[in-house]
This record gives sequence, structure tokens and C-alpha cells, in this order.
Amino acid sequence: MYDFSRCKLCATNAARPTYKLKKTTVYACAACGFHFIDHLDSMPSETPGDTRSALDQKAWDYIEGMLPANGKQLRKNLHLVKRHLSLSGSHCLDIGAGAGLFAHLLAEAGASVHGIEPQGIFREFAQRKFGIELNGETIDDRHWQEGYAGFFDVVTIWDVLEHVNFPAETLRSAYNVIKPGGWLFLDTPRRDALFYRVGEWSYRASGGANPLFLESLYSPLPFRHKQMFTLRQLLQLVESIGFSVVRVHSSLLPPHNKIVLVCRKP
Ligand SMILES: [Zn+2]
Repeated sequence: MYDFSRCKLCATNAARPTYKLKKTTVYACAACGFHFIDHLDSMPSETPGDTRSALDQKAWDYIEGMLPANGKQLRKNLHLVKRHLSLSGSHCLDIGAGAGLFAHLLAEAGASVHGIEPQGIFREFAQRKFGIELNGETIDDRHWQEGYAGFFDVVTIWDVLEHVNFPAETLRSAYNVIKPGGWLFLDTPRRDALFYRVGEWSYRASGGANPLFLESLYSPLPFRHKQMFTLRQLLQLVESIGFSVVRVHSSLLPPHNKIVLVCRKP
């Protein structure tokens, strides 16, 4: 059982329950200002050896229906990657691969692709739709840390850091599997964006009765948002791990109120 007074970013015992939402509580760290909820996903998400699939026609149609909207963003992400290196013949790892669309785009661009997706239903979709075999082991697993140390030219982490149990560990583990000179590309919602701050202000002004957007930004359900970074916190984290930051895109206003980072392992 994790003690949520221990900050998931700076590891001091300075985190306190700060925003009590309907289904979860947001802890804020007095030392570093990190915000995270009092919930962790149980991993692994499936019993080993349980091969029963929940990918029925309804689930298939739902996932397939999401592809066009996701594809629009992921093609932009692919363009960003291609601006920094040639993908042909490169070794790529997509962490949090979902339905496998980005892994598919990488493969189309000539890359040799691995992908991590803890949810079996998405792995099965990726296999049947794109012929891509995603792995269920998370990046901290020995499968990657021992089998692929210093291996990848590119690691991508699109919309994942806000979902994982321990984002600092996810980034450290990603660092280990990137080869010297290799690239990390990621995006994640930006917590110091305007709408989040309006939610905090409304929560305080209403004595907790009206948290506005905060309610929709966090959820204790599996694989939903558990934490959000400010730009400064994320930059400090990646630099403390050893990455050099090559490029930062960010905005405080919707619809681009997220952080996009391009980093390199020296
Ligand atoms: Zn902290």
C-alpha cells in the first residue's frame, strides 16, 4: 500500500490531501508542488495465462471508431519525429501504444518497431488490425531493462505520463533503453494551463463545492489521469534523469494546453 503523503515526484513526505473530489483526492506536495491523486492501478492488469478476450465486436467498433481522431494527432507527432531523424532502419519503442496506430505509422515509415500496451484488449486489436505484436510488460520490467538496455534510437511516450503509476520511474526506465545519442519524444497535459488554475481557484472560492475542470481531469478508474506536471516540473525531471532538452512546445491556453518535449540522451 503506497503512502500518498510521499510525493511521487520528489519522494519527500510533504504531500497533503488538497482537493477532495467526488471519487478521488488530489495530493499536493509542499516541497515541489507536484499534484497527484490517491490511487494506483494494480499491475499487471491481467492474470498471467488468462487468454480470454474482451475484444468483442462492440469493443472492436469502439476502438476502430476512435482511430481517425487519434490518427490526426499521431500523424502530427510522426511529423515531429521525422523532423529530427530518419526513421528508416531505426529501432523505435512506443510506450503506451494503445490500439497500435502510432507503431503502425512508424513501421510504415521504415522503422523497426516495438510497443508497450498493458491492456490486452488493445494488444489484440493492434495484432488483428495492423499485424503488430505489442508487449504487455511495462518499461520498468526486466524484459526491457535487461533485454533492451541502450538499444533504441527513439522512444515515444504520447499521452502516457499522466496515466502511469510512477511517471518519474517511467522516464528513468525509458532513459535506460535509449542508446547514447537517441531520442525521446513525449506529450502530456500541462497542469499550469489556464483551465486547471481556474478549477483550483473555483475549488478554493467555493470551499470545495465547485472544483469545475479538476473533477474531469482526474479519475481513480484504471488507466485514467493520476497526475499532471507543470512545464517547470517536467523539464527539471527529464534533465535530472540525464536527458538534454532539444525542443519544447507548450501553451497555457486550450486547445494546445499540453507539453510536447523533444529530448536526447547524451
Ligand atoms: Zn514533491
